[in-house]
Amino acid sequence: AVEVHDVHKWYGTHRVLDGVDLTVRPGEVTVILGPSGSGKSTLLRVINHLEKPEIGYVSLNGELIGVRRHGKRSEMGVPPAEGWGRLKELSERAILAQRSRIGFVFQNFNLFPHLTVLDNVAAAPVATGLLRKPEAQELARSLLSRVGLGDKTTAYPRQLSGGQQQRVAIARALALRPGVILFDEPTSALDPELVGEVLAVIKDLATSGTTLVIVTHEIAFAREVADRIVFLDEGRIVEQGPPSEVLDNPQHERTREFLSKVL
Ligand code: ATP
Ligand code: MG
Repeated sequence: AVEVHDVHKWYGTHRVLDGVDLTVRPGEVTVILGPSGSGKSTLLRVINHLEKPEIGYVSLNGELIGVRRHGKRSEMGVPPAEGWGRLKELSERAILAQRSRIGFVFQNFNLFPHLTVLDNVAAAPVATGLLRKPEAQELARSLLSRVGLGDKTTAYPRQLSGGQQQRVAIARALALRPGVILFDEPTSALDPELVGEVLAVIKDLATSGTTLVIVTHEIAFAREVADRIVFLDEGRIVEQGPPSEVLDNPQHERTREFLSKVL
């Protein structure tokens, strides 16, 4: 499980995350909604240890990530109910290993332009020592077939449409056999006619039990795939629950206001 515990993140005096608690259980699909600037991307970046929180921590399967490394315990915020003892603080090296177990799919694909589609997917498992090259390439071929790109292995990213590039990025994330995959607005850079093919791939992952955290503005899609919807506003989780509650019967004025704009 991913546990985000009392996370505060600020830039200067601007509190971007203001005491966020979130648990993502294995196999669960969590969709994060919220207005622009509410801290959605920052939350994903904290989970992936691309940002360190000022207070609080993130753990993956009981191992700490994202805690302020040189901070005193008193600066780590509210201790977990079980006390700090349960959690093991990781070395920088272990954090990198931990991060490699978290997939991240960006809005703008971020593929390696000089590598073929096959090598884009096969590179990370080789670089991290998870697989040797022949096995990594075999895995890459099967993942590319899974996302409908079995015939594009020798192409370069620039030869693909945005939707195809994003599907390569999803295959690349899967290649590290991540415990969780984070998606930050995976379809918002795509032409409308390409959105469906990417959502279909994500939906396939969702129904096959992959643990996903998805930031998206695609409300109909969120309703279909989410076990839980989390509504973030000004760095706080204002409400969360199944789509039938948060989308159909929002309790909070800010959620109602947001939904009235996007629905
Ligand atoms: P959007 O829907 O527009 O992507 P978001 O919910 O993902 O928004 P974030 O990108 O997490 O929002 O940003 C939250 C706030 O933090 C914004 O006000 C942003 O300007 C600020 N912020 C983000 N990163 C930095 C940074 N590196 N330095 C200073 N401020 C930052
Ligand atoms: Mg964002």
